[in-house]
Amino acid sequence: MSNASEKPTGLIFFPAFDWAISPTHPEREERLLYTRDQIFEEGIMDLPQVSEYTPVLATTHDIAMTHFCVPRVEDQVTEAHLIAAGAAILLADEIVSGQIKNGFALVRPPGHHSMRVVHGNRGFCNINNEAIMVNYLRRRKGIKRVAIIDSDVHHGDGTQDIFWHDPDVLFISFHQDGRTIFPGTGFTNELGGPGAYARTINIPLPPGATDESLLYIVDNLILPVLSDFKPDFIVNSAGQDNHFTDPLGSMRFTAQGYARLTEKLRPDLAVLEGGYAIETALPYVNMGIILALAGLDYSAVLEPDYQKFKESADLAGQVHRMVDQLLQRWAKRDQVSISQSDMTGNYFQHTKRIYYDTDNIQENQLEKLRLCDNCPGYLSIETKANHGYGQTGGKALCLSIPIDACASCRTEAADLYEKAKKARTYSYVYLQDKSADLFLGYDTANGKEWRSEGS
Ligand SMILES: [Zn+2]
Ligand SMILES: [Zn+2]
Repeated sequence: MSNASEKPTGLIFFPAFDWAISPTHPEREERLLYTRDQIFEEGIMDLPQVSEYTPVLATTHDIAMTHFCVPRVEDQVTEAHLIAAGAAILLADEIVSGQIKNGFALVRPPGHHSMRVVHGNRGFCNINNEAIMVNYLRRRKGIKRVAIIDSDVHHGDGTQDIFWHDPDVLFISFHQDGRTIFPGTGFTNELGGPGAYARTINIPLPPGATDESLLYIVDNLILPVLSDFKPDFIVNSAGQDNHFTDPLGSMRFTAQGYARLTEKLRPDLAVLEGGYAIETALPYVNMGIILALAGLDYSAVLEPDYQKFKESADLAGQVHRMVDQLLQRWAKRDQVSISQSDMTGNYFQHTKRIYYDTDNIQENQLEKLRLCDNCPGYLSIETKANHGYGQTGGKALCLSIPIDACASCRTEAADLYEKAKKARTYSYVYLQDKSADLFLGYDTANGKEWRSEGS
């Protein structure tokens, strides 16, 4: 048996040369090219502590076990998306099988704004690389409890949506206050569904927050919560737009701050999300993260205009109060009471309006969770998207059975699927059965069903 600390850190670079929203868009291939140059110049790839992998493609089945892509997975993803998700899966596989001690998927397109239902691109994301990888590990590798820590300047609203009702996936996001930045969510009162209360934790930071606040949150909130939750696998959605030079964010984190975060958090796998200061931040932040993952000295990783920012007493006070409040919620995580006004029969339900900024789509959802004493319950989502100019994509019904569903929830959801096919009320009907690793989709207009199964 070799000591875990002797195993290398796995890296995948995938700049996705052939995918861009537009040629001048901030989310473009140069984001990774500068990092790659820097890492080669510093000789990082020659170190025995680092091992580079070539990415593989995720399958459309992997995507369909996380997302309801309307009408089909193939309509929402390109090969670049499959590679970005496949890279995360490959490194996760290597970590679980003990080939590497941890990993960093330096990939694009990013994913953390992609929600469970996908009608198009939101916040530069089509599919959620981390969520797809996490669901893969749980279906195929017997991993039960996962924690995802999102360190992007934007709230990880897609990841939050996907695991909102999941008691075994802890999602913690710290980000710039949603009143001042896209997507406008991620407040402290967003805490997860009734069966997964406080397994979603949001820390909206005032603009201008520095490494001091970042590390305060890690030491006083994230690490204590992780020590209670005891995840089998820790993921870092590594967004780097909290950097002080980022053109989209207004925060003041540095490469040293990000590296220290990584050292403290000890994620099994980091997956790149945002970060748009392609010369002044990304090469340094990425280098800091890689060195920290590999257990190497990162103290010399300093941006050209590095400075040690001092937090104001006022801002620090706000952050300390927020951390206290969230720790109280966490302590009471098993004492949720459900308001009867949110219930219809056995279902906990709410409506959602989701805006796709990149593709200008407005989606309306009615989400219902079947409350069950024996399992987390299945989810039913009615979705309708308005693509602008009066075009609508028709209505779809999405049914999702959790991995540890009880037999009666499985039967009930499968019956609903068959009924909805016959009723012809929906343009598309989907059944995602995680407990059986099975996906079914039905196109009402053509009377065609498609299915995929885990192999
Ligand atoms: Zn971002
Ligand atoms: Zn059940």
